Order: sequence, then structure tokens, then C-alpha cells
Amino acid sequence: MKIITIFSGKGGTGKTTVSSCLAIMLSREQKIVTADCDVDAPNLGLSLGLKEKDYSSFIKIRASEKAVLIKEKCNGCKKCLNVCSFNAIEWDKKKNIPVFDNLLCEGCGTCKIVCPEDAIKLKKVENATISVGKAYGFGIVSGQLKMGESGSGRIVMEVKRKAMEIARKENAELILVDSAAGIGCPVIASLNGSDYVIAVTEPTPSALSDLKRGLKVVNHFGIPCGLVINKYDLNKEFSNKIETFANKNKMPILGKIPYDREFVNALVNLRPAVVYNKKFESLFISIIKNLNA
Ligand code: SF4
Ligand code: SF4
Repeated sequence: MKIITIFSGKGGTGKTTVSSCLAIMLSREQKIVTADCDVDAPNLGLSLGLKEKDYSSFIKIRASEKAVLIKEKCNGCKKCLNVCSFNAIEWDKKKNIPVFDNLLCEGCGTCKIVCPEDAIKLKKVENATISVGKAYGFGIVSGQLKMGESGSGRIVMEVKRKAMEIARKENAELILVDSAAGIGCPVIASLNGSDYVIAVTEPTPSALSDLKRGLKVVNHFGIPCGLVINKYDLNKEFSNKIETFANKNKMPILGKIPYDREFVNALVNLRPAVVYNKKFESLFISIIKNLNA
């Protein structure tokens, strides 16, 4: 089973549009499962036309911990008060006890370690939901972090684990991962274990700068990577710069996608662009050919 991850250093480059179109075209040749690992803002399902009611199962994930006070044990010594790096502890003067802010607590456990009375415990809390469904005949697993919750990297691992389970059951040959943008925890967890990375960028200085940062993470894992330049014709001069950068770094250009209002119309209509307008099919067939070259 192969894992291909679609990634971008910067948000808004069209990563999910590329993911949904590639998913459609690849699924016509082989059995695939898709995994939406952009757990802070998952929208691969939406771009494939799936609404919440269309998912067949929802799995609650408890991969985060929060500090909880055992009041009877607390002697009010205040040793825990100033140790929290996340400013999650306040003091209740009336009751003479610490108060933990659930939204700020990252479950690091420092307060528990310094407490001489063992009056703090770490309690597992639900921090995400994984939704499982089907679109256009292939499986989709989508992770969504709850508001203010931490542990996005662990949720991504859970999403990938579920996608692999489905892929094994369905004898799928490929898992297509739609990663979060940037270089944070969910991105690292998305890239880890991938066989190939498709980096999506656009011809702007900020996109190139973020691409360079992101590629450091990709290179750290030693994963082969190809590039897709989206909306390349909006700034052809800068697209050439990106191509020069890619050539220097021995990174193949898998495809160049022109700006087209129809991509926006497809998004608005909750349909992958290749389904909304068949003229886009050849673009993505050529990306897949380059991928297999
Ligand atoms: S567990 Fe860590 S983050 Fe949470 S309140 Fe204690 S010190 Fe702060
Ligand atoms: S360190 Fe422990 S005993 Fe002291 S105030 Fe905090 S919770 Fe209470």
C-alpha cells in the first residue's frame, strides 16, 4: 500500500482542490482511500460534496489530557500556581484552591509533578471526532479537532490509522492524504510514513518562502517530492522562479494549473473541479502520468 501526501507550505494555495481532483482521477484507475489530515480546518469532504449527514460513522477521540484538582487533597500551598507555561492556572482566593482553565491547559503535567499532596490528576478528554464516509465510490476519513483542543498531531495519526484499516479491508492500493498547511505538528504527522509528497504552491513570494520552509520538513524525512504550481499564469515570471528553484533542488514539476474561475464555481457547488467541468481532467491525468514517471 502506497501513501501519497498532498502538502503546501502556505494555506490557500489550492491544496484541497488538487487533492479532490487527484482523488477522483486516481480512483478511476485503482482502489484508493482518502484521509483529510487538516484537522484544524478539514474540508476535503466538503470539496467532494459530503455534508455531515453523509458520513456513515463518527468516532470520538480522547487523545488529550487536562489537569483536574482533587479538592480534598489540596492544602492551598500554591506551589502549582506559577509553574504553568500556558497560563492555565488561576487562584480562587475565596476557596484557597487553584482553578484550571480547560481551554488553556495543554495537559503537560508540570503542575501535577510539583504538587506535594498529589492533589492534581490528568484526565483524558474528548478532543476530536473522526468521520468516516464514502464519496464517488472511495472511502474518506476526516479528522476534526474540537475548538480550543490540543493534540492535533495525535489526531492525524488516528486518522491515518483508520484510513489504513479501511484500505486493508478494501484491498486499496493507495492512501491519499490531504495534509494541513505549514510546518506544525499535524503536518509532521501527515508527512511521516509517506512514500511520496506532492507540494502545491502558487506564484507568490510568500508561497515560495513557505514552500522552502515546508520542504525542510519533507527532506528531514527523506521523502521524494514533486511540485504542482497552481494559478501559475497569474504571475508567469514568478512561476519561472519557482521552476528554477525546483530544478536546482531536483524536484520534478508534476503540473502547472492555470487560474480559472471554474475552480471557484466547482468549490461553490461542492463538486471536485474535474467532475464540475471535464475540461480539467487532462490537467490531472498529466499530473498522475508525471507522478508515475
Ligand atoms: S497540566 Fe500543564 S498546562 Fe495544564 S494546568 Fe498543569 S501545568 Fe498548566
Ligand atoms: S500544589 Fe497541590 S496542594 Fe499545592 S495548591 Fe497546588 S494543588 Fe493544592
